[in-house]
Amino acid sequence: MRIVQLFIEYASHTLDRPFSYLYKGNKNLGPGFRVLVNFNHRQLVGYVLSVKESNASAEQLEEETGYHLDYLVDVIDDAPLLNEDLISLAKRVSEYYLAPFISVLQSMLPPSLSPRKSSLRAPKIAYDQYLSINHYSEESLTDKQTEILRLIKKERKILKREVGSPSVVEKLLSRGLIKIVKKEKRRLAIPNYEYQKPPLLTADQQKVIDEFNNSSDPVFLLQGVTGSGKTEVYLTLCDEELKKGHSVLFLVPEISLTPMMMEYFIRRFEHQVAILHSELTPAEKYDEYRKIARGEARVVIGARSAIFAPLANIGLIILDEEHVESYKQDSIPFYHAREVAIMRGEMHHSKVLLGSATPSLESRARGKNGVYHLLRLDKRINEQKLPATKIINLADYHNIDRDSYIFSIPLREKLSAVLKARQQAILLINRRGFSTSVSCRNCGYVFRCPTCGIALTFHKSDNMLKCHHCDYVQVMPDTCPKCGSKYLMKTGFGTERIQDEVHRLFPEAKTLRLDSDSAKVRNKIPSIIESFRKKEADILIGTQMIAKGHDFPDVTLVGIVLADIGLSMPSFRSSERVFQLITQAVGRSGRSDKVGQAIIQTYNPMHYAITYGARQDYEGFFNKEMGMRKLQNYPPYYFLTSLTVSGKKEETVISHTYSVVDYLNEHLGDKAIILGPTTPYIARDHLQFLRTVLIKYRDYLAIQNTLKELIEIYAKKSSIDISINIDPYNF
Ligand code: ADP
Ligand code: ZN
Ligand code: ZN
Repeated sequence: MRIVQLFIEYASHTLDRPFSYLYKGNKNLGPGFRVLVNFNHRQLVGYVLSVKESNASAEQLEEETGYHLDYLVDVIDDAPLLNEDLISLAKRVSEYYLAPFISVLQSMLPPSLSPRKSSLRAPKIAYDQYLSINHYSEESLTDKQTEILRLIKKERKILKREVGSPSVVEKLLSRGLIKIVKKEKRRLAIPNYEYQKPPLLTADQQKVIDEFNNSSDPVFLLQGVTGSGKTEVYLTLCDEELKKGHSVLFLVPEISLTPMMMEYFIRRFEHQVAILHSELTPAEKYDEYRKIARGEARVVIGARSAIFAPLANIGLIILDEEHVESYKQDSIPFYHAREVAIMRGEMHHSKVLLGSATPSLESRARGKNGVYHLLRLDKRINEQKLPATKIINLADYHNIDRDSYIFSIPLREKLSAVLKARQQAILLINRRGFSTSVSCRNCGYVFRCPTCGIALTFHKSDNMLKCHHCDYVQVMPDTCPKCGSKYLMKTGFGTERIQDEVHRLFPEAKTLRLDSDSAKVRNKIPSIIESFRKKEADILIGTQMIAKGHDFPDVTLVGIVLADIGLSMPSFRSSERVFQLITQAVGRSGRSDKVGQAIIQTYNPMHYAITYGARQDYEGFFNKEMGMRKLQNYPPYYFLTSLTVSGKKEETVISHTYSVVDYLNEHLGDKAIILGPTTPYIARDHLQFLRTVLIKYRDYLAIQNTLKELIEIYAKKSSIDISINIDPYNF
């Protein structure tokens, strides 16, 4: 008989402890194996922590422990999933983020290896299923079904698993409107790029590399202006580590947005590269993960969760674009890849290199006070000048005429010059869709999301109203549901509207649009970027996605159509976000031998995020913003933790949140500043009411235990849920 201690797959604070089961079978079983167990009348997956042999009978054991002990249903794996290093890392992450241990394991492992029931339907199929139209009719379909049907019609042939709404697809299939077409499966196909010899490093790049190599500091921040050649520094350091027999972990925010980065690495390191990111299919992820675990890949390129890649003997961990917020996971266990990288680096004695043109304030402050070793590349390659920027005040009537209220006269002039010179332009508007709200002219009714309460965005391409917070959609109606009036008014504009406006003003211009609507179809983003690089279009229109790390040599103009969008967001980070967006976007212009320019349209021409952004003056912005943060006790001067209480009854949520605040005040005293209860910007989530409490403090260790105790107390209450987010980003 074996006694097995295991964690249950539910990521809840109340179940975050080992449970005991018995096993009398003869399969191989040890720590790190997944098993199938009965728990509360359900069959679940458990993750084994320890196994002990015993000669006692089940009855004796029950008497000894005082518990009723169940038998395991079955053992799933024939080898442990994680090595000891990764298990210690998981423990550390779970302790720091006060997250259930199992939730960290679930984030670490690819879906088909994850300790959860759904992993058992692991992909082993050799065929891909595509959907195409069989018989087109929208008759008596729900809006969601219509949306999917229109998507399939538009794409003609689309992978079934990419449509993302299995129940809707099944409905459409059963009604014979669409059909399945089987095709042989293509697991991750890495393009066959030819090896490329490295260029000669510039003196500045060499200096940075020498300084890195001559220092024994654990964490470095490479601050290099856009186009300063940071990538080549990464590649060189990576090469050196491989030559020393080490492996390298290279993180990027979103691979699909930077296909060039992947290409550089494959050209340099060829078959040694493995790729891990969210756009891979479960089967591809499974293959890549196993390749790394077998020790066949020595360079791993990946997004956030690749920080958990089962790579051995790591010599260097690099985070490119370290300021990008997608490094922070927005659900349990709410980890930030940068912090995990530093933990992992510490455990493996490997150096960590963070890179950015616009480092996060937190990282730059640590660079300033020596917590991180600051390295700098202050000049562009070949001394190419940063683009000349111009701020256009949209409130000044000299800048606007009747031809367009969206594009100012100066922006139109520049665009037209770029088109004449056969160069390319990028137009950034940080909002997708056509118009940001729709209301009734007659009675004032505003179309809102029934789940979240926020205004719905009109999307012209499929004539739908969509919620940009949850996945609610409805077909755009012809009349007001309240008064029946036909006069519906669309206000505010997004990427689709900008594209229309460009076509109206410059009918000869070819455009491409890049936003998360285009990202709905897999591999669409890289193909849009590739197409723009090949000059198949003159103007690329998009959201912040187009500001990220791309290198388009023929782009000589970047236009930020409305720089103010982020400023009105209720967050202490809003200025930082706007500054980063402007600096990164402007940095896309004039990257080769041509001189670049940028136009920034705004109603706030004096706002410091915009003026410093326009000047690409990081230091100026940093000093100003640090002053603001100090005044308001925000990071990097204080750390933050947020607690979110949710429940079906608003009164219950409010009263519990008040008692959370009392508890914290009582136990933390002057060790922290407690703010709340606050009603969050989006106050409802899936019909749950939300309230938050924000905790500001200087020393996490001084408050960690209180937080732990608080979670334990409140996690037991059945009328509410409580979730904790250490170093949150949504404030
Ligand atoms: P960053 O990531 O800092 O914005 P990149 O790494 O994209 O900058 O480099 C900008 C451009 O300079 C790229 O086109 C890159 O190929 C080129 N480049 C970088 N290093 C060198 C070098 N040592 N010699 C020649 N060209 C280089
Ligand atoms: Zn109305
Ligand atoms: Zn919604």
